[in-house]
Amino acid sequence: MIEPEPLDTVLAELRACRICRDAPLYPPPLPHEPRPVIQAAATARLCIAGQAPGTRVHASGRPFTDPSGVRLRSWLGIDESVFYDASKVAIVPMGHCFPGLDAKGGDKPPRRECAPTWRRRVFAALPRIELVLAIGRYAQGWHLGADNAASLSGTVASWREILARPTHPRILPLPHPSWRNNAWLRRNPWFEAELVPVLRAEVARLLA
Ligand code: SF4
Repeated sequence: MIEPEPLDTVLAELRACRICRDAPLYPPPLPHEPRPVIQAAATARLCIAGQAPGTRVHASGRPFTDPSGVRLRSWLGIDESVFYDASKVAIVPMGHCFPGLDAKGGDKPPRRECAPTWRRRVFAALPRIELVLAIGRYAQGWHLGADNAASLSGTVASWREILARPTHPRILPLPHPSWRNNAWLRRNPWFEAELVPVLRAEVARLLA
C-alpha cells in the first residue's frame, strides 16, 4: 500500500512526465515528444485499463478515439457522452504515451517505465474504483499478477472465476477490441454471447 495523494497532484505530474524521452530505463528513448493520455476523476467507479495510445490517440490526446473505441463502447453498452465522462469512467492505460511503431508498422508494447512509475500512485488516488476492465495481456499481467494464465485466451476464458474473486477492485479480463482480434472473436463466440451481457450489466450498475 502507498500513501494516497490528491488525484490532481498525481495527474499534473503524470501529464508532465518525460522519463521515456529524457531518461529512459529501457532505451532507445521515445522517438517523439511524450503526450501522456489518461482520463480520471476521484468519483469514478469503473476503470478501463487499456494498453497504450496508438497513432490516432497520440494525435487526439483522448483515449480510444479510434475504431477500437467504437467496438469497446458497443461492448460496454454506452455512448461517447458517458464513456468520456471522467466522473464516471477512469481510463488508465498500461503505458500513457504512444510507444512508437515496430519494424512491421504495428504499435510497440507499452513503455516498461510507465506502469511501475505511475500505476500504484494513480490507483491510490482513485479509491472508489470497484471494477477494473483489464484489456489485453499487459493489463492482465499487472492486475492479475501471479494469478494470470499464460495466454490471453486462458485468462479471458476464466473470466467468471476472476470476476467472482473478493478483490477490491474486482477485475474483469477482456481481449483488446482491435480489429487484430477479429479472428479471436470469431473463434470464441461465447465472449459476445456470455461475457458481454454480464459486462453491460456491471457497467450499467456502476454508472447508475
Ligand atoms: S510512457 Fe509513461 S513513463 Fe514514459 S514518458 Fe509517458 S507517462 Fe512518462
